[in-house]
Amino acid sequence: MNSGTTAPQAAWWQPLPNGQAACQLCPIECRLREGQVGPCATRANRAGVMEPLHYGRIVAAGVDPIEKKPLYHFYPGRSILSVAAPGCNLHCQFCQNWAISQSAEARTTAASPEDLVRLALAEKAAGIAFTYSEPLVWFEFVRDTARLARQEGLKNVLVTNGFLNPEPLAELLPWIDAANVDLKSMDPVFYRKVCKAQLPPVLAAIRQFHEAGVHLEVTNLVIPGHNDLDAQISELVDFVAGLSPAIPLHFSAYHPAWKMDAPATPRETLLRAHSLAAKKLQWVYLGNVAANVGRDTDCAQCGENLVQRPGNRGISHLDASGRCPACAAPSPFIFPK
Ligand code: SF4
Repeated sequence: MNSGTTAPQAAWWQPLPNGQAACQLCPIECRLREGQVGPCATRANRAGVMEPLHYGRIVAAGVDPIEKKPLYHFYPGRSILSVAAPGCNLHCQFCQNWAISQSAEARTTAASPEDLVRLALAEKAAGIAFTYSEPLVWFEFVRDTARLARQEGLKNVLVTNGFLNPEPLAELLPWIDAANVDLKSMDPVFYRKVCKAQLPPVLAAIRQFHEAGVHLEVTNLVIPGHNDLDAQISELVDFVAGLSPAIPLHFSAYHPAWKMDAPATPRETLLRAHSLAAKKLQWVYLGNVAANVGRDTDCAQCGENLVQRPGNRGISHLDASGRCPACAAPSPFIFPK
């Protein structure tokens, strides 16, 4: 991955008087003076023109099991090329990927959309996942790569905080096949104080993904003392169930990182979250924890195991048409035709 590429002009901004530039990409809606870089570290005002800073720059790349995103109901058992640029428009004190999401200094390598598509095809990956940091503020590169990937028969996946304005998200969604959106809490104060963001745009984006027909899964990182009360978990479950009880919800264990030193999430907390959510949602999973519940997927009709997930890799037992091998009931998975 080293062919490099020339950055296009940024999308979703407007020039202002006195050389300022107004960014319209995310709800922060920065007005940047000449030379100023946005708090996301992904866009800068260069002589009155907004510039995407990391077009064609890759800070992390790997071929992962798709279950690691996590996506449990999309192409089970397949691998996916996973890539990231530095930067994020949230500044969560507990960020588990802070070394790349919160550092503009992280070392990058050059790669064009064509490079990534070639690599995904060579690796026989299901597609490309834009993940690890925040792909929505890598907007222009994600858009251009996803268009090309779609033309080549690859799938496009976003693993995202969902903090984008609805218009740019609508521009991107036709190229996106699946998304895992991080819903950190249902508490607006938590979003404001701990993440330096706002909750309502995230809820709106989750609705937008769902209504656009993108395969959607939701992840909640459970942090002791911050979002782990029964009432807090139930409110989040109610929101997801209100969209559809068939949306997979992942509860993930937090570990102390960056600016947060709350203790790691106990296994019992995740088991409690699972049992609360399973009353309203059909598919509830646990991540970053060793547990027998919330790991595999069994047939809702006959109980036969459909997908096992030892570690992070899925082992599919679906039949050739993606149905239950025992009773031939339709499975809940998006499955390659
Ligand atoms: S994408 Fe970055 S520059 Fe644009 S409004 Fe959001 S934080 Fe500001």
